[in-house]
Amino acid sequence: MLILDGSLGEGGGQILRTSLALSMATRTPVRIEKIRARRRKPGLMRQHLTAVKAAAAVSSARVEGAVPGSDCVTFEPSEVEAGDYHFDVGTAGSATLVLQTVLPALLTAQGPSTLVLEGGTHNPFAPPFPFLDRAYLPLINCMGPEVRADLEQHGFFPAGGGRFRVEIRPCRHLTGLRVLERGEIRARRARALVARLNESIGRREIRRIEARLSWDRSCLEVEKVHSDGPGNVLLLEVQSEHVTEVFTGFGKRGVPAERVADGAVNEVRRYLASGVPVGIHLADQLLLPLALAGGGSFRTLEPTQHTHTNIEVLKKFLDVDIRLTGGGDDWTLEVERSA
Ligand code: AMP
Repeated sequence: MLILDGSLGEGGGQILRTSLALSMATRTPVRIEKIRARRRKPGLMRQHLTAVKAAAAVSSARVEGAVPGSDCVTFEPSEVEAGDYHFDVGTAGSATLVLQTVLPALLTAQGPSTLVLEGGTHNPFAPPFPFLDRAYLPLINCMGPEVRADLEQHGFFPAGGGRFRVEIRPCRHLTGLRVLERGEIRARRARALVARLNESIGRREIRRIEARLSWDRSCLEVEKVHSDGPGNVLLLEVQSEHVTEVFTGFGKRGVPAERVADGAVNEVRRYLASGVPVGIHLADQLLLPLALAGGGSFRTLEPTQHTHTNIEVLKKFLDVDIRLTGGGDDWTLEVERSA
């Protein structure tokens, strides 16, 4: 059994999710200790617990320590079973992170799967649904499987209540992927989503985008959405020939709409100035499927702690070499099966 120290590197929920995903995909039993030791409230929160239970359901795993607050989980998977699954975080915790845990193994399962996920769909510090749909899944689909996601209801912190559906048509083996160039920029789009709040918040965010990014008015919009509770998120999309990236700003009580927009604008500017195709979040999330495929490479911004941590966890499960070269905001990440 592999034993992993959850306090290493980034020290958050990602070590748990990456380990579960790899444990299922490689059928390796694992024990993760000191889970989320570096977080203010350590141990399993609802979102992580749902991820453990979801992984257990999909792989008929024997599990120990799957209780709230637990700092140690033992996970022994059996065969991954395609099928229809429904996972509900039960709070506003991120449902997209639950998907991140179970999706890799289902990409090469014996048959198609349908997942319904409930909880938060647009959370800070997690991939918002539009990132999943527009940035992450299109690249996964370049690797062989066909995955489609449909948002049924928005879920924001703290009310949650979001829901989306994912249809997965697997492939036998994932094929590697190279994303070294962005190519020509084909479209830009800014959407300010507002749920149960005054639309003027979204209008102020959009005005700021217009002023600071000089994007054409025709690609800027405020969208009123339905949700169980209030929420506001600004989504900036850069659609290029070979990749689409999505940058996010989350509205927060006490933070002026202009400041929310500025955070997202700064991220877009950094990305555009660098010339690389893959942004910081896509980078840590692409590593796992590339390693399962046994190869691939991409150019990205300066690797984050999440990326470094994922590299360490991946090397424990798989015989892969992961090379990082570059400097500043232009790095190349190469994944190769070890000789
Ligand atoms: P953790 O902090 O360990 O719970 O991991 C958070 C995960 O969410 C990482 O895979 C991040 O790349 C991802 N993530 C955080 N913020 C964003 C964002 N704005 N867009 C896309 N992915 C994100």
